[in-house]
Amino acid sequence: MTDQPQVQYASRSDVGMRRAANQDSVVIRLSGEYQEWIDCGHLFVVADGMGGHSVGDLASRIAVESLPIAYFKIDAESIPDRLRSAVVAANRAINDKARENPEFADMGTTCSTLVLSTAGAVVGHVGDSRVYRVRNGQIQQLTFDHSLQWEMVRQGRATIDNVDMLHPRNVITRCLGPDQNVQIDIEGPFSVQPEDRFVICSDGLTGHMTDSEIGAIASSMPPSDAARLLINLANCRGGTDNVTVVVARVEKFPTLNGPFVDTVTEPIAVGAKDTSTKPRGSLANRISMTLFLLLGVTGLSLLALGKVQLGLWLICPALILGFLSMIVSTNRQAAESSALADTAEYNPAAIPGLQPPDGSRPAANSPYRVAPADIDAGFLELLAQAQSELTTAARENGWKADFDSLANMNRQALAATKGKKLKQCVQIRAQAIDDLMKELYAHSRNG
Ligand code: CA
Repeated sequence: MTDQPQVQYASRSDVGMRRAANQDSVVIRLSGEYQEWIDCGHLFVVADGMGGHSVGDLASRIAVESLPIAYFKIDAESIPDRLRSAVVAANRAINDKARENPEFADMGTTCSTLVLSTAGAVVGHVGDSRVYRVRNGQIQQLTFDHSLQWEMVRQGRATIDNVDMLHPRNVITRCLGPDQNVQIDIEGPFSVQPEDRFVICSDGLTGHMTDSEIGAIASSMPPSDAARLLINLANCRGGTDNVTVVVARVEKFPTLNGPFVDTVTEPIAVGAKDTSTKPRGSLANRISMTLFLLLGVTGLSLLALGKVQLGLWLICPALILGFLSMIVSTNRQAAESSALADTAEYNPAAIPGLQPPDGSRPAANSPYRVAPADIDAGFLELLAQAQSELTTAARENGWKADFDSLANMNRQALAATKGKKLKQCVQIRAQAIDDLMKELYAHSRNG
């Protein structure tokens, strides 16, 4: 019997500082009943809509409405199958709507989904929103960005160092909506352990925050505080886009059997055919080929010796055997190449330069990137700087901030750092930044 897990989570979605409307959407559906947990697990979805005439929010809204309905209703053999079918259903729902009205024609949305289940963590993904796992001081990006930049790096037409100069940041290469069919990345299953954190977010967050910063915040605070600080910092740094984030903290999770892609020990050579495991043909097939040659050669020899009738008696069964062997062999080759095509779809070619240099990357392609997620001195300094700059802005603009309280929090944060209570320092800075950002929002959004 598998116990139900305990997952603490929070989600926030914010319009940002520059946009008039929020085109991001988010939905979380936890399994209620025990049987539902066994069949479906818990579902988390972030969708980032796009399109003219403000229809991007319609696309992302249809995604978060239709996907969970399909996910919990579909009959499926496995969690990955269920997830793939649900994303297909969401794509179809958006595409159907787009064809109803010319104004909806160009609408689309990213869709990043995470399922925590008895199969482990399974990800279904289209677009450049992201799913991360934070564990043991590391943040791992489980999704491949379907963006022009990542595609160029994958194809070797840019490097991770020069891609920002060569190609724009926000061009995506795949999304839900525009086409009736869509290619979906299913990643995992990944193992899940107590104390793991999962983060799902739109590019409004990753455009302003590094992976390490996201990891440090997600791992050091309760999910609701982490989500609030992440959004505040993205907005503090310009808030150029809508920003949405889900933070989930695994408190208790049943022990799972796997197999998981992050515990596989043999590396998979993506794109290269693995000849070592290729069957050389079944025993029956090899026997029939040997008989074909034996009968054929003997029959031809008898014909040459003038024994026509006996020769023909041997050649006829030889031809039948040869024909049957050929059919079996052709079918096998077709089955093998279709299996290879499936593997390639699940394991898109790895990206040079996006992998960590220390070789700690697991066998499968995901995680695509790994970064440290510790609270270090540099990160604490960034938070102190954000508080200081916001305090200056508050003074200069005459906001109603409680400056005594802010000064007090500053002293407490410095004392916590000195006493190596790093999480406590982050918590105090986060509170101060939130107090100040509330003033900033009140003044920038009303004015
Ligand atoms: Ca966006």
